[in-house]
Amino acid sequence: MPQRDQSIAVVGAGIVGVCAAYHLQQAGYRVTLIDRDGVAAGASHGNAGCINPSSIIPVAMPGVLKKMPGWLMDPDGPLVLRPRYLPTMLPWLMRFLAASDATRVAAQVKTLRTLAGSALRESTALADAVGAGHLLRSVGHLTAYSTQAAYDGDSGSMQRRAAEGIVVEDVDRDALRAREPHLADTFLRARYIGETGHVIDPAAYAKHIADHVRAHGGTILRANVTGIATRDGRAIGVQTDTGLIATDADAIVVAAGAWSGALARGVGDKVLLDTERGYHIEIPHTLALPDSLAAVGPRIPTLWAEAKIFATPMAGRVRAAGTVELAGMSAPANWRRTDLLARQLARMYPALAPAIATIDTWQDSHRDGAPPGTASVGMASGHADARAAASTSAANAVASETPRRWLGFRPSTPDSLPVIDRSPRVSNLIYAFGHGHIGLTCAPATGRLVAALITGETPTIDLRPFAITRFQ
Ligand SMILES: Cc1cc2nc3c(=O)[nH]c(=O)nc-3n(C[C@H](O)[C@H](O)[C@H](O)COP(=O)(O)OP(=O)(O)OC[C@H]3O[C@@H](n4cnc5c(N)ncnc54)[C@H](O)[C@@H]3O)c2cc1C
Repeated sequence: MPQRDQSIAVVGAGIVGVCAAYHLQQAGYRVTLIDRDGVAAGASHGNAGCINPSSIIPVAMPGVLKKMPGWLMDPDGPLVLRPRYLPTMLPWLMRFLAASDATRVAAQVKTLRTLAGSALRESTALADAVGAGHLLRSVGHLTAYSTQAAYDGDSGSMQRRAAEGIVVEDVDRDALRAREPHLADTFLRARYIGETGHVIDPAAYAKHIADHVRAHGGTILRANVTGIATRDGRAIGVQTDTGLIATDADAIVVAAGAWSGALARGVGDKVLLDTERGYHIEIPHTLALPDSLAAVGPRIPTLWAEAKIFATPMAGRVRAAGTVELAGMSAPANWRRTDLLARQLARMYPALAPAIATIDTWQDSHRDGAPPGTASVGMASGHADARAAASTSAANAVASETPRRWLGFRPSTPDSLPVIDRSPRVSNLIYAFGHGHIGLTCAPATGRLVAALITGETPTIDLRPFAITRFQ
């Protein structure tokens, strides 16, 4: 590892922040990771776990305008928009509609492939390097269809993937039964993409990376960042609730997920960043039928195309995650969405239905099962004392036996492209946020690109489409 006499502060210890910290440390920088809630406290905790280099289709596709009334009317649809949030989200939605133009979509698909294409290779290398290889599986994923119309409707997106070199395998009903024997008979056919992997515990994966950074001399601090302090066009520290920190940082990286927009706007950089809220439920294998529950769920991550939910086999649990709710950051969780996920999971895997039917209470899983306000395991800050860590471990032990539900905030731009760029106003401020549905997938590449922006090396891909100036 080369050594440079420079230090970098990274705001946000989600998967993007920890990957940036890792790559910066590999490039020889002293690294400080700062997060108000701990490692993987945000979207990186509860996602569907898929490392999916084929996830290159933007959310805003041609014809999206026609679908919007349905999003407003159907509270149980895969994409819902809370009417009350409509006025706040209008600028984002206008840009979202503009991004659905066919020419732009074609360009966005190609751009996303440049970022996501190396994901499994990079994630595997990174996981191995930090001792998290045991959390990664490379078994591909299925998209399963319960109607011929949905299968046909997806053909265009699959053709776009094929044009990017992605091998999409058609799976007929019999082959689907053979691959996923417990998937309901109502599924008619599927498509299999083999270049996908998944992690069986996304939060543990991020924590392994953070632990590796700390073990190699990095610092992890717990603080609520309220702004980036600047002087004469340079960042001079990170403003927090308790004062200015990281004043020795030669550069600052904002990787605060869906909360990054406020920090960028604080230094005068315009950005359209909102959130596509998503939910998950988790059914522990021990819930019922202890010997067989593990065997009657998904064998590999399986997307129910119509419902837009992924069923993923996780460590000791089955997780169903997905759907999109446009309702902003502050509206309370709408647990009706997780009730819906539970019903959908039971329909996908009928053998899970009896266990799901026994659930009358769900544990809210905000931070790894830790009650709000307690420290997360793996956080080496002055605030995390041994007692808090022990109580969190106990909470986690209980939580692993308990069905859990979770709300998370995808950091979403209207064109589905993240921001990976240097601030045009603050020369030593770097942005790495807005990864929407593919942050777990793209985090290692993003971290590597962040390091290139700071070292001055030529980035391996064209970063112009990821520029923050597209929002000026
Ligand atoms: C239901 C669901 C399923 C998904 N499935 C997948 C999938 O299968 N594959 C995939 O690739 N992606 C998936 N995603 C998307 C993925 O989870 C996100 O893109 C990714 O986690 C974003 O990572 P991040 O580090 O940018 O943000 P986050 O994980 O949200 O991390 C941001 C961090 O910044 C901290 N922070 C924020 N503000 C401040 C502040 N002011 N001061 C200090 N700290 C701050 C937060 O505490 C948090 O820890 C899914 C998302 C959801 C919701």
